[in-house]
Amino acid sequence: QKAEWAKLVNEKTVTADGHHVELAANIGTPKDLKGVVENGGEAVGLYRTEFLYMDRDQLPTEEEQYTAYKAVLEGMKGKPVVVRTLDIGGDKELPYLNLPKEMNPFLGYRAIRLCLEQEDIFRPQLRALLRASVHGNLKIMFPMIATLDEFRKAKAILEDERNNLANEGIQVAEGIELGIMVEIPSTAIIADQFAKEVDFFSIGTNDLIQYTMAADRMNQQVSYLYQPYSPSILRLVKMVIDAAHKEGKWAGMCGEMAGDETAIPLLLGLGLDEFSMSATSILKARSLIRNLSKSEMEELAAKVLEMGTTEEVVEAVNATISL
Ligand code: PEP
Ligand code: MG
Repeated sequence: QKAEWAKLVNEKTVTADGHHVELAANIGTPKDLKGVVENGGEAVGLYRTEFLYMDRDQLPTEEEQYTAYKAVLEGMKGKPVVVRTLDIGGDKELPYLNLPKEMNPFLGYRAIRLCLEQEDIFRPQLRALLRASVHGNLKIMFPMIATLDEFRKAKAILEDERNNLANEGIQVAEGIELGIMVEIPSTAIIADQFAKEVDFFSIGTNDLIQYTMAADRMNQQVSYLYQPYSPSILRLVKMVIDAAHKEGKWAGMCGEMAGDETAIPLLLGLGLDEFSMSATSILKARSLIRNLSKSEMEELAAKVLEMGTTEEVVEAVNATISL
């Protein structure tokens, strides 16, 4: 089977009825690029930049960041690279920031919330990204966006840094797409409003599931609630994809669910445009998708959206697809 998948490295991801989707990879450092290329990734759908900030005792400089972003953009040779700005907090701590301990770190001061407050951390990252943009096909994504106001503020800071760079005579690419992670239910619920202002969505199901179900993504005791195929999650995913398409934007997914064999047929049916997963899952997913018909998956998705429990959903998928 592995040998069969290997033949798909340079193939496009096209369904049996001719619909193309993009299979992208999640990476944490420029070193991960090798795996992306070897596994035929069509893009980087999520570059988690927090690893640049971790396992050290001070913030990375703008220059260090520029070097890392440039390496990834060049390594992908013009294919899209979605870089997520700093998503620290929750399970990812930075001891040198000396942030106060919180009762509920996952619900606290993290990611874009921290970046909007501490511009001395946020601005160098945005400058590094803008400077690197001339080396490839960069898209910038903000994590943990809960309100339109947060997005607008983050965008304004980005535009401000773009102006600063222009005044300094430093080149920045034109038309860099700007998107958000949809990983907080409030954002999924008003995705129609966001879709008017962002260029794309990437659904972060790892967090979206935990916030929707009120179940800690790392707590085994409540893992029965942490279900990607639950009707509530599927309906939210549908709302986000539909909202994007209505405004002519694209919707991707970079949570674990995007690489899950049971979820992929449903996501295809719901119209997801980009699936971003660990590089080692790409060829298997491509092989699966090439055997599926988009129109059949649309029927399946429509059917499961009327269901009330996770068990029914999984049963319906299994009855349609023989994995
Ligand atoms: C997510 O929340 O789904 C996601 C991709 O981000 P992370 O796992 O880094 O929180
Ligand atoms: Mg997340």
